[in-house]
Amino acid sequence: MKTQNNIKQKSGNSSNSQSNSQSRRQHSSFRKKPANQKSSTQTSHGIKIIPLGGTGEVGRNMMILEYKNSILLIDAGLRMPEESMPGIDYLIPNTNYLKDNKEKIVGCLVTHGHLDHIGAIPYMWHRIGNPRIFTGRLTKGIISKRQEEFPFRQKLDITEIKDGSRITLGPFQVEFFRQVHNILDNFGLIIKTDLGNLVHTSDFTFDQTPVNEPPTDFNRLQQIANQGVLLLMADSTGAEHEGKAISEKIVFDNLDKIFQESEGRIIASTFASHISRVKQMIELAEKHNRKIILGGKSMKDFIEISKTLGMVKAKQETIIKADQIKNLKDNQVCFICTGAQGEENASLMKIANGEYRNLYLKKGDAIIFSSSVIPGNERTVQILKDELYRQGAKVYHYQMMDIHSSGHGYQEELLEMIRIMKPKFFMPLHGQFSMLVKHTELAEQAGIEKNKALAIEPGQVAVLNRDTFQISPEKVQANYVMVDGLGIGDVGEIVLRDRQQLAQDGMFVIITQVDTQKGKAKGSPDIISRGFVYLRESKDLLKEVRQKIIQIIDKSAGQGGAVNATYIKDELRNQIGSLLFKKTQRRPMILPVVIEV
Ligand SMILES: [Zn+2]
Ligand SMILES: [Zn+2]
Repeated sequence: MKTQNNIKQKSGNSSNSQSNSQSRRQHSSFRKKPANQKSSTQTSHGIKIIPLGGTGEVGRNMMILEYKNSILLIDAGLRMPEESMPGIDYLIPNTNYLKDNKEKIVGCLVTHGHLDHIGAIPYMWHRIGNPRIFTGRLTKGIISKRQEEFPFRQKLDITEIKDGSRITLGPFQVEFFRQVHNILDNFGLIIKTDLGNLVHTSDFTFDQTPVNEPPTDFNRLQQIANQGVLLLMADSTGAEHEGKAISEKIVFDNLDKIFQESEGRIIASTFASHISRVKQMIELAEKHNRKIILGGKSMKDFIEISKTLGMVKAKQETIIKADQIKNLKDNQVCFICTGAQGEENASLMKIANGEYRNLYLKKGDAIIFSSSVIPGNERTVQILKDELYRQGAKVYHYQMMDIHSSGHGYQEELLEMIRIMKPKFFMPLHGQFSMLVKHTELAEQAGIEKNKALAIEPGQVAVLNRDTFQISPEKVQANYVMVDGLGIGDVGEIVLRDRQQLAQDGMFVIITQVDTQKGKAKGSPDIISRGFVYLRESKDLLKEVRQKIIQIIDKSAGQGGAVNATYIKDELRNQIGSLLFKKTQRRPMILPVVIEV
């Protein structure tokens, strides 16, 4: 127990660095009682349901089910950073609670292969004891391929499941059922316990005419419902859209029209993981005598996995290499790439910037954005679209034409799911908080009593019993962990604040020499600045600042070798800071360097 405590302290610090004051409070109250942690699960009867992410946000889906001293995990996704987080690659769930309770983890069920459900695995699995993963064939392929980029990590233990598979993990008996989404091998979960059955929908639509898979098996859903559903946990992504989601069949027909009417090259962008869409494109390319060129590593990886698994079939000559584009006529080219979200490093952005070696835009090119825009990316996508128009391309966007289906059911479908399952209790998953609230309203419409539907945010703990479903006062640390390059959680609040300050007002470096004998400044101080003002055009300001620096040093340095460099630096930071603010209304980061001579 002692050694374990040590590890806890150490590892707690590393990801605690980014916690805000609220979660620090959560953390300390959680730390105060490590001794009776085990008994805490026994004293509060019932199944604890703890989202670590994905509720109140789009992405970072991860959930804990804790019962009888066992923890079952569902999904481990990532989320894109906000605009106020310069340099951050991803946000992932906080691992502290799981790290402290690793021995309780019986496994992780992964519903499907989208990054908001699998993306955090390489960054967190080694920290939580490398738990077993249970998932479909395609998802296993995607997770394993991605893990190859992290060769220094432990090998993952992945068990393949299929429609109807049953497994027992601690007190949970799990059964998988196929759900329609815009990626194959997507599974909903039935989790049976001695208190009752829990159903997790995964992401889903009730598309009656999907193009790459059979539609939803409603008989199966009815059978699941007939066994009684204590709690339904359901995808809320489409909860704010009226009616039904667009069928993939309509998307296919509209894409077909674009292929028919385009005389130039076709450049289609979507998510790499949106394999169903890429599959449609391949089919259309073959129909309209175009060759496929794949842009971007992730796109190539996904297609390679899907081809190996027999999920994407293309004639041997259909997919060609990028350097062969020059041998083709314009109406023979179909370039498929990532970047529909305006991602900086994706192929579409490179093409727009004229940085893609084998493909330079020209008039008559047709660009298809076949994916909806993730909240927060709207502005970047708009700038990208403008740039493409500027270069004479014809842009097709999902808002102009149904060339994208979100893969998430809209209100009518969500209502239907609740009506079929007739659960006693309801919990909305996957979505911004407004979507969760809307989804609980739909649940009410479908006959669930108001106090029986709970929208829970990450870190909150809900306790489920046969007759009650309540939020407990207990909390689990769930603030996000930031990933920057290879660093996980090492960029905290302070580093981020520095980056924000540098991004907003730049920096101002003062290098000055102090004569320790005389207690006076020696020579004229050097000043370097970046992102603050253009120094050459600010001679007057610089002159004034230099004089002030010398004044400050002469005043604060003691004589006869007793120079207090820390004190001088503080004075420089404060006084020069307020002088610069008075003159410019800006607050650059001031870095004083004091050299004693
Ligand atoms: Zn999904
Ligand atoms: Zn999702």
